[in-house]
Amino acid sequence: MDVIIQGAGPVGLACAISLLKNNPELKLTLLDKNSASDPSPPEDHRGIAISEGSKQLLVELGAWSNQVPAIHQVHVSQRGHFGKTTMRRTELNQEALGHIVQYAKITELLRNSLKIQATKAPFFQWKFGHQLENPSHEITPEVHLENCCVIHADGGLFHQQVAKDTHKNYHQSALVGYLDVAGIEPNTAWERFTSEGPLALLPHQLGPQALNFVWCASPHRVTELQNLSEPIFLEELKKAFGLPIGQFLHVHRRQIYPLGLNIRQDIVKDQEVWIGNAAQTLHPVAGQGLNLGLRDAITLANCLGPVFARQPNHSTVISTLIKNALSQYAKERRSDRQMTIGITDLMANLFTSQFIPIVAARGLALATLQWLPPLKNALARQMMFGKR
Ligand SMILES: Cc1cc2nc3c(=O)[nH]c(=O)nc-3n(C[C@H](O)[C@H](O)[C@H](O)COP(=O)(O)OP(=O)(O)OC[C@H]3O[C@@H](n4cnc5c(N)ncnc54)[C@H](O)[C@@H]3O)c2cc1C
Repeated sequence: MDVIIQGAGPVGLACAISLLKNNPELKLTLLDKNSASDPSPPEDHRGIAISEGSKQLLVELGAWSNQVPAIHQVHVSQRGHFGKTTMRRTELNQEALGHIVQYAKITELLRNSLKIQATKAPFFQWKFGHQLENPSHEITPEVHLENCCVIHADGGLFHQQVAKDTHKNYHQSALVGYLDVAGIEPNTAWERFTSEGPLALLPHQLGPQALNFVWCASPHRVTELQNLSEPIFLEELKKAFGLPIGQFLHVHRRQIYPLGLNIRQDIVKDQEVWIGNAAQTLHPVAGQGLNLGLRDAITLANCLGPVFARQPNHSTVISTLIKNALSQYAKERRSDRQMTIGITDLMANLFTSQFIPIVAARGLALATLQWLPPLKNALARQMMFGKR
């Protein structure tokens, strides 16, 4: 049996490592659009919130670094309106609520782990600078398609994708970068809901003197913010954030990401499967896209594992086993996907609206979370571990 993974972002890489770890003899081909040199891609410095559940998966994949900053508490509040809640690691009995890792760092850690795995996998091919429109039609002749499982992990960003079954433009972009700061409480994340959209300040791998920021607003406003001189930008940020948490000294690497929802209804078709952003692209408001994608990758590898263990000779038998494994995968992912997509879309709609009843309702929702610890903890657990 052959497996082709199209796309070597974090989800494709995680899936490749997991498959090879359990089946080093597997005939696996990874089509990596990027070059062999790290970091890959070098220009992507998004700070990604990795949940505690994802950290555990990355540790198991040998793709974790103890240098990445932990989040011990998260403050969520509205700028100019009532309603706030704080989540602390002690309330959840966890070492951390999550960690922040730069996108390029995650891919580097996963690539390093895959390189180690590759030394024990004689039939693994890692094709760099490689991109196909349709791998099931164009793949190299040595691959037998009737015995082959094609894994689409070529997610990409919302504005680069073709529209899938559910496609929604939130008419928002995120301005992402990092700040030099002073006097900030370490290991703390803030999510502020401003009149322009959500604004998050998150720990940075450079240490407590730096913070990642993700500032969501209309595409026009985000372009304006990107082009402001440093002192004016810092002034605007201070005004928009509106909490005296310390000093913002310098800003670096301002990059824009258009935001939207793009969902594939059927994530499995015959011997093909879609995972990570190739299956669902989400608004980053809840920090769930990669966390959900990593759970896709590991679950898929676990569902396909028994097929390799059996290795029958007859191709009809193999194709049936692959189809069964993929439908099992679709079944296992249904509720986690639905729940995570639903919560994220709800938050993206609720927290970007300035309609007064909605502003009041979300203030009430935040206050309710603060007053009802079991509800708050249940929500935090969903965000940290997904639906189990
Ligand atoms: C501003 C922002 C902030 C975010 N913050 C968070 C967060 O805090 N927490 C979180 O969990 N998620 C977050 N996300 C979402 C997260 O970045 C994505 O969900 C995650 O990157 C998906 O990983 P992936 O491997 O599926 O796709 P990608 O990261 O998009 O990787 C896909 C790979 O496929 C390659 N590719 C594309 N087309 C082809 C082709 N035809 N052939 C071969 N290769 C191809 C691409 O070059 C890329 O290497 C954020 C997203 C944004 C935009």
